[in-house]
Order: sequence, then structure tokens, then C-alpha cells
Amino acid sequence: CGIVGYIGEETASSILTDGLNKLEYRGYDSAGIALYHEGDINIYKQVGKLENLEELVAKEDPKGKIGIGHTRWATHGKPSIPNSHPHTSCNGKFVVVHNGIIENYLSLKERLQSQGHQFRSETDTEVIVHLIEEYYNGDLGRTIQEVIEELEGSYAFVALTANEPEKLVAVRQDSPLIVGLKHGEYFVASDIPAILKHTNQVYILDDEEMAVITKEGVKVLTVNGELINKEIFTVDWDP
Ligand code: GLU
Repeated sequence: CGIVGYIGEETASSILTDGLNKLEYRGYDSAGIALYHEGDINIYKQVGKLENLEELVAKEDPKGKIGIGHTRWATHGKPSIPNSHPHTSCNGKFVVVHNGIIENYLSLKERLQSQGHQFRSETDTEVIVHLIEEYYNGDLGRTIQEVIEELEGSYAFVALTANEPEKLVAVRQDSPLIVGLKHGEYFVASDIPAILKHTNQVYILDDEEMAVITKEGVKVLTVNGELINKEIFTVDWDP
């Protein structure tokens, strides 16, 4: 239901939970964040109010300057910790947060299971992260171009991998997604309020567009990999 991502020099956990708070108006039943730190991706999830996640984060005080977060409004699978996002691949090297519905997830899940992938949730979302692991070719952006050829339905998702930790890849199809730009710091979110405290310079992604976000900058591409000269939109309302 709500997506936030961050890459920069600040502690990501508080930026992510703060951003998720700004998306609370959309409703949700559970929430989670994933942070990259020194070779590992660590995940924190809670059912119910965002305060539950904030309490866990305050207690664990997770490190990391890159991460993704999600508030879930369950469509496939009850509200529970295993079903809440971020979802992770078998080897723990890939994580994904997703808004929307993957219509053909059952057939993809059966195929992936027959290839040896073990699923940990009842969600439609989890197929995305297993497909990324299955297709990974050393370049997360190009891998995701292949993965989305398999997906039917509506989605905005953001992926992070420990193999290329200085990078977030975001893609949109029938579910909103924006990228926030600040010098050396970048944000991704399902809606502007999540990031407006940090920047009012945004790219508003269209369907069949993706963003490859690193600390050096943001590339907006078509899902076929063609670079787009995307116009920066200046948000003129107050945070
Ligand atoms: N369909 C996904 C799920 O049930 C995502 C729901 C959402 O947009 O929050 O986990």
C-alpha cells in the first residue's frame, strides 16, 4: 500500500519509518523495513500500528544508509509477519517491497517451486523476489527488465540487493511511484508526502518506466532499457 526507499548518508531506518508515517492515511495492516549494512540485509517487520515497528526499530537501532520500507494492505494472504513486506529471496541477498497485485502469481509460484524456490509467505508479491534471484545476471536493473516480462497485473515495486548494495531499482505499472532528488541523497515513494520533508524535486514515473537509483544519481529508463530524459517536477505545496 505504501512504499518508501532511501539511499544517502543518513541513517535510513528513521527516514523510512517517518516516510511510512506520512503514508498512513492510505490505511495498512502491517509494516516493515529492510536495511543494507556491511554485506547483509536486515529486515524488521510488525503487524498492526506503525508504532509497533517504530518500537522494534528503536530497540534494535539498526544501522544502514540504504533501505526500503512498506505499509501493507493485504490482498493475498492474511495480515501476519511472514506476509508483510519486505519479502526476501531464498539466499537473503534480494529484497522487494510491492504495491498492487500480481495476477498470475500462482502459476509463477508453481514454476519457481518446481525449480527449488521455497516460499515463506502466502502473498502474490513473493514471486517477484524469487524471479529476481532466479534471473539475476549481475545487474539488478537489467534483471528486473526480464522479470517484469513475466508479470501480469498492477505493481509498483522497489528492489535492493546485497550484491550491488549502492543501488535501488524501482518500477511502475498501474500503481504510483515517484523519485525524490536531493544532492547525493535519493528517495523513492508511492506518494509525495513521504519525502516532501527532504526535497520538493521529484520525478513522477509513468507506467512502463523504471528508475535505477545510486548515490551518483538517478537514471530513468523505459522497461526496455532506453534512457529517458525525464523532466524534474517541483512540488509547490508545503511539507
Ligand atoms: N498484494 C500485495 C500483498 O498482499 C501488496 C498489497 C499492498 O499493496 O499493500 O502483500
